Amino acid sequence: MIYADNAATTKMSPRALQVMTDTARNVWGNPSSLYELGQRAQETLADARARMARILGAEPKEIYFTSGGSEGDNQAIRSCARLGAAKNRRHIVSTAFEHHAVLHTLKRLEKEGYEVTYLPVHENGIVTADEVAAAIRPDTCLVTIMFANNEIGTIQPIQEIGAVCRAAKVPFHTDAVQAAGHVAIDVKEMNIDLLSLSAHKFHGPRGVGALYCRTGLPLYPLIEGGAQERNRRAGTENVAGICAMAAALEEMVENMDKNAAYVSALRDRLIDGLSAIPHSALNGDRKNRLPGNVNFCFEGIEGESLLLLLDQAGICASSGSACTSGSLDPSHVLLAIGRPHEVAHGSLRLTLSEENTEADVDEILKEVPRIVEYLRGFSPIWQDLVSGRRAHML
Ligand SMILES: *Cc1c(COP(=O)(O)O)cnc(C)c1O
Repeated sequence: MIYADNAATTKMSPRALQVMTDTARNVWGNPSSLYELGQRAQETLADARARMARILGAEPKEIYFTSGGSEGDNQAIRSCARLGAAKNRRHIVSTAFEHHAVLHTLKRLEKEGYEVTYLPVHENGIVTADEVAAAIRPDTCLVTIMFANNEIGTIQPIQEIGAVCRAAKVPFHTDAVQAAGHVAIDVKEMNIDLLSLSAHKFHGPRGVGALYCRTGLPLYPLIEGGAQERNRRAGTENVAGICAMAAALEEMVENMDKNAAYVSALRDRLIDGLSAIPHSALNGDRKNRLPGNVNFCFEGIEGESLLLLLDQAGICASSGSACTSGSLDPSHVLLAIGRPHEVAHGSLRLTLSEENTEADVDEILKEVPRIVEYLRGFSPIWQDLVSGRRAHML
């Protein structure tokens, strides 16, 4: 089997898995308990927090452990919205191609009386700091823009956007779930006020993540209860998962340059190979993208059929985000970068990791063109395109 869906989730690294089982076995006390066993868990937790903070360029007390990316996004946005309402500011700036954890939270806030500006995304899948600056108003209480897109892998000019927000004194949140562990992040240097990440996107366990919130910016809890996470997130801490996350992130950061060079070379070969398929197009900027991300549209086919046939060939891929697969709506990300509906339906996302090999790329480059040709063979839309009854868009 070839796993090429690392944007959906990643396989835990042996080191993270070892840390998780060792911690669960040996440090199983409740960190809130006062006896020695509990205090050991408390110290282990403090150590993991300090290590996460160091990697992000933050202070340990600015790191809050969560259940993952969705929770971090929800809490960051809702917290800033509540803070804004207290100052009579109910305007939020975001983009049209955020993850649903952000978009659906914003939709909910719109129903609650907030106004959201969704910046259009350029064809290359990138928004500019100038556009953010132009959208900020006196009543803006939050700018939330993802670090790297989960479907097309494009990386946003986060440092510049952060500088614009800092100058306007507007809190800046970034969903860095796809970026953490894959590209360098320094929250201070990049002027980031809030940042969410999730362990399972960098070879850590599912169900654990972290939210960075800058000192001085109040953070409201989503979950009320005990005093864990300095009263910002109630619930007995997932110590084993948190330690495994810290280990996984450290491992990724230690190897970041080496991994990026290796994975992006595989990615580039894949992009070059798939570009040879007639009437296909790469989605998102060719250079400014995550090392492992390949996303194509092929005219005249349905992405879902392509995925099923790839699965039969032993290749795990995606047509967009895991959250939208199963629905027949085309990807909101591909529509946001201007792909027409018909074209957006024929998309394929392949996301590679350090575990993939040259042989995997060879195999994918053998199977995808064959399956695309096969599916086009009985596609009425393709017949229309070939006969000229319908104009090619790619
Ligand atoms: C996966 C993902 C999320 C959700 O993270 P979970 O830990 O699965 O809740 C949020 N944002 C982006 C960009 C993602 O890729």
